[in-house]
Amino acid sequence: MADIYIRGGWFITVDKNRRIIRDGAIAIEGNRIVAVGKREKLDREYKEYSDIVIDASRKIVMPGLIDLHVHMAQAMIRGMAQYVKLIPWLKDYVWPLQGNYTKEDGKTSALLCMVEMLKSGTTTFLEAGLSGRYGMEGIAEALEQIGMRGVLGRHVMDTPGYALEKSIIHSGLIETKEYGMKEVLHMYQKWHGKHGRIFVWFAPRTPGAVTIETYREIVAKAKELKIGITMHLAEAKEDLGYFKKEFRMRPVEFCNYIGMLGSNVVLIHVVWVTDEEIKLLAKTGTHVAHNPSCNMKLGSGLTPVAKMLREGVNVGLGCDGGPSNDNYDMVEEMKIAALGQALINGDPKAITAEQVIEMATINGAKALGLDREIGSIEVGKKADIIIIDYWKPHLIPMLNPVTHLVYAAQGQDVETVIIDGKIVMENRKILTVSEEKILEKAEKRGHEVVERTGIKPIIHWPVE
Ligand SMILES: [Zn+2]
Repeated sequence: MADIYIRGGWFITVDKNRRIIRDGAIAIEGNRIVAVGKREKLDREYKEYSDIVIDASRKIVMPGLIDLHVHMAQAMIRGMAQYVKLIPWLKDYVWPLQGNYTKEDGKTSALLCMVEMLKSGTTTFLEAGLSGRYGMEGIAEALEQIGMRGVLGRHVMDTPGYALEKSIIHSGLIETKEYGMKEVLHMYQKWHGKHGRIFVWFAPRTPGAVTIETYREIVAKAKELKIGITMHLAEAKEDLGYFKKEFRMRPVEFCNYIGMLGSNVVLIHVVWVTDEEIKLLAKTGTHVAHNPSCNMKLGSGLTPVAKMLREGVNVGLGCDGGPSNDNYDMVEEMKIAALGQALINGDPKAITAEQVIEMATINGAKALGLDREIGSIEVGKKADIIIIDYWKPHLIPMLNPVTHLVYAAQGQDVETVIIDGKIVMENRKILTVSEEKILEKAEKRGHEVVERTGIKPIIHWPVE
């Protein structure tokens, strides 16, 4: 007897032994997985006696994907910052656009982003930069309603710069330290741990926007509350000059100096690092969120993931944001991660498809401190599961579910999504919110934000 029984198909468990079960089955009771095994065996106990039986023959069943780096407020400005490197990308496009958001825009963008993530198999995410302007309360409510698992990282800042002196954050996004800290604490008290699905972290802005004293205060407070910290680091080469000039340090050395390395820290990008810095990340158990689409699109360079994994750094995968990717499809991101490492290492086996799947599942769970609960299909873990339909021309013949998933599959192949034991998407229909209403709202509000800012989309051909 189970609440949900899924039978047939290829089960990629990512469990301790990394078992792949052909013609497998799993049973779910409440929000937990209670049985995993061969269909033949589990059928006897569950087939006739479960409330919901899902036929997964011709499907791949796997743990839900974990997007380790997301900006939900950027979904609604997708396509609005093209052909520029990081600093003008921020200064001339993303900051002015986001600096013109209202709280309702922030919530709408978050809903749009979450619908997109769900429809491409993401069940858990780490948001890396909410500010008061986006209305964090409304975003937490939207997360509660849609039924995903999410960690909401909130910005803290106390000076208005970014790296190079001339890059001043848009006035619409500048906040005081007191306001940022107060909201993190308020959100923590109200939402952290709610339903075991919603969590609140610190997401300090990068050096130039945060003083050393404030970084140290954040580190101490995070330790006291037992919560995580996520921060962008060494994304663009220009960052190196800034760290050298201001602090006479390399970026990871700087993090060490302010006490911000450790198992509760997820550093984002970490492209421009030396072998010594990689060793320091491994030694301190600091996690890295790799975002290959963003790194490639902005011409930033590419994180040395193969080397990091070899050295024992825990690396997860992220889609980053609407104007830097420009989508939130983790299935696509897995392919780009694999291709990128083969290219920069000049070696097609620099990173395996199995390692990429680990990055998108169990490594992400570990980075969030949730690997005892999610990230794999194992008895006792929470039921965050996706079912992928492979009866499609681009996935047949199903000779290798592992490499097919990384190199051939698409986010749109995800058919059903279960989070915390609840079916949130069934046969591509989201059951918790109205997708149509969210699309209509985001289409309208997205155009309004762009009009308010006066920034035009770049299209090189004449539009009549
Ligand atoms: Zn980012």
